[in-house]
Amino acid sequence: MTNSTKTICPYCGVGCGLEVLPPAQPGKAVNRDSEGNPIWQVRGDRSHPSSKGKICIKGGTVSESLVKDRLKYPMMRDSLTDEFRRVSWDEAMEAIVNRMQKVRLTQGPDALCMYGSGQFQTEDYYIAQKLFKGFLGSNNFDANSRLCMSSAVAGYIQSFGSDGPPCCYEDLELTDCAFLIGTNTAECHPIVFNRLRLYHKKNRKVKMVVVDPRRTQTAEAADLHLAIKPGTDIDLFNGIAYLLMRWGRIDSLFIDECTQNFPAYAEVIRHYSPELVARKCGIRIQDLEKAAKYWGESQRVLSLWSMGLNQSSEGTAKVRTLINLHLMTGDIGKPGAGPFSLTGQPNAMGGREAGGLCNILPGYRLVNNPQHRAEVEQFWGVRPGTIQPQRGRTAWEMIQGLETGEVGFLWIAATNPAVSMPDLKRTQAALKRSPFTVYQDAYYPTETATYAHILLPAAQWSEKTGVMTNSERVVNLCPQFRDPPGEARADWEIFAEVGRRLGFEKQFSFPNSAQVYAEFVKITEGRPCDSSGLSYEKLRRYGPLQWPYADTWPCLEGEELDRQNRTNKRLYTDFCFNTPDGRARFGAYHSRGLAEPSDQAYPFVLTTGRLYGHWHTQTRTGRIPKINKKHPEPFIEIHPRDAAKLNIKENSLLEVRSRRGKAYFPAKITKEIAPGTLFVPMHWGALWAENAEANALTHPTACPSSLQPELKTCAVQISIA
Ligand code: SF4
Repeated sequence: MTNSTKTICPYCGVGCGLEVLPPAQPGKAVNRDSEGNPIWQVRGDRSHPSSKGKICIKGGTVSESLVKDRLKYPMMRDSLTDEFRRVSWDEAMEAIVNRMQKVRLTQGPDALCMYGSGQFQTEDYYIAQKLFKGFLGSNNFDANSRLCMSSAVAGYIQSFGSDGPPCCYEDLELTDCAFLIGTNTAECHPIVFNRLRLYHKKNRKVKMVVVDPRRTQTAEAADLHLAIKPGTDIDLFNGIAYLLMRWGRIDSLFIDECTQNFPAYAEVIRHYSPELVARKCGIRIQDLEKAAKYWGESQRVLSLWSMGLNQSSEGTAKVRTLINLHLMTGDIGKPGAGPFSLTGQPNAMGGREAGGLCNILPGYRLVNNPQHRAEVEQFWGVRPGTIQPQRGRTAWEMIQGLETGEVGFLWIAATNPAVSMPDLKRTQAALKRSPFTVYQDAYYPTETATYAHILLPAAQWSEKTGVMTNSERVVNLCPQFRDPPGEARADWEIFAEVGRRLGFEKQFSFPNSAQVYAEFVKITEGRPCDSSGLSYEKLRRYGPLQWPYADTWPCLEGEELDRQNRTNKRLYTDFCFNTPDGRARFGAYHSRGLAEPSDQAYPFVLTTGRLYGHWHTQTRTGRIPKINKKHPEPFIEIHPRDAAKLNIKENSLLEVRSRRGKAYFPAKITKEIAPGTLFVPMHWGALWAENAEANALTHPTACPSSLQPELKTCAVQISIA
């Protein structure tokens, strides 16, 4: 392919390699979108180690999302009832910096907040952390990853001593048993799933277990589908552990030599008899035993999960009780085995590396660890004690801070909380009260722009050069291959300019993103996510590379050595974990169940999730005709038995009410959903459909460890509208 650029897809955390080509090619008609705009051609990059040339509908159509409805110039208004007026960058920056200084002086640094995104490249994340945590003295940076995978982060940290998925995609093709729970991988991470499905089809001895209240496309492919009641995951895990114990299918040597806290865990799981667990989970005892048998008889078990475990008021406990099964059977640190969280966004992993949540610091460090704070302060050259010892506000706590008036300045970038946050009417009311909101995004209009005082146009993927890390820790350089529209600028450049205008000229002067990345990798040196051996030069020369990738590795001196170090690396292959004594920790948990179970007044459990074609709040995919054709409107899934009881017909418009709000969806009657449970997709905000916001119904109760809200489930009542 001539003039092609290699990059990765900017949608999900699978991180598929793309090859893109300019719209005009010799001897061929110019490639155009449905409105006649010239658009780049996209195809899968066969040389990419994570995806080997495969892409899904989102990756294949991404270039159609790059031209329409772009925010091109900074805009400002004095109040939300005014019209926006175009302003210069200089005017917008001056207004932002003045406001930040005023709020810092009058309310203190805790009144300054930034809500960022897994769409950021690592450079964007890093500069935002340096600005907020290092130079403004506020840990109030949180990302939409809080809503996505913070339970996985907390689970890994508590079980292994640090964050970091220990597996790689090669494990999909080396496992004896794939155990998928709380993940509709076929729709949400399709290229990972295709790889697993092909391997499973070819190897009939390999087992696939899918645990999901819905009979999804993922469940269709499984040897065993456990349609457990929502919120009973911990009961299931403890029930499997009970059987493994009873059958002697545990790895006592591994438990003795590599773990701690097994006695407390054993004391918990002895209460989980198969009879009790089957009753609680709503499954047959034979199926529970079959799942335990598949796990116990396999040499290598790989578990995969995403929002079904993470978006829960006991998300960390769910993640840890799943990890317990790996620890008790020694299924970790070897090919084909391990607990593998699938990240939602293209660079949520890079965000974790750069410290992009309110409780973490760059290099997998923690805000509440004095040594970690001191290391980062020294690296950034700031006074000891500058980084606050307490975590900052989570995304939801920023909303609460707007309600109480404690937040005086909110900067939202590359995310759409006016659709994606729980308890949406409350969120929207709080955003309306915000004294000053900067909204930095690639698109206009969006639902969140409605609540902004200043709009800043951001360059997005394809318009800036930066790095993104996918779910298997593979780091990819995503080069710029188009000009940004109008006056749009890279997120990191905008943050750095604010840093300079605040008086930190030297610390925020970077000639280009390569220099930002060079500084970032240095701060990871010696840490579990050590990327100090990486650079733009190496990523250009060798293509995607996987961390850990230490500076000491002689990669540039020997092609062969480098090839070995590129990808397919696992963590904990020496069975030594990142805890002080090197041992992994069992977590002993009983389930507390759903934060809001169904009851007489609200008799249904509503679950929410994604569809194959759409992405989050449709900021990109809602503008792509092919995807809209595939998913033209929102819907609610209901079991035929429930529909018959309420005289609901196919496409009847249903009013769905929770304790917080209501929404309307046409009914889709299907046996894919269990009786008593309903499902709605989370993609539709006010811009795309009237009153069909799934999050008007959801609640913000969060896991006490990960602070991730239980977006997955809430109790609702339904009636024909
Ligand atoms: Fe993009 Fe994910 Fe689809 Fe791959 S699977 S093409 S990364 S959306």
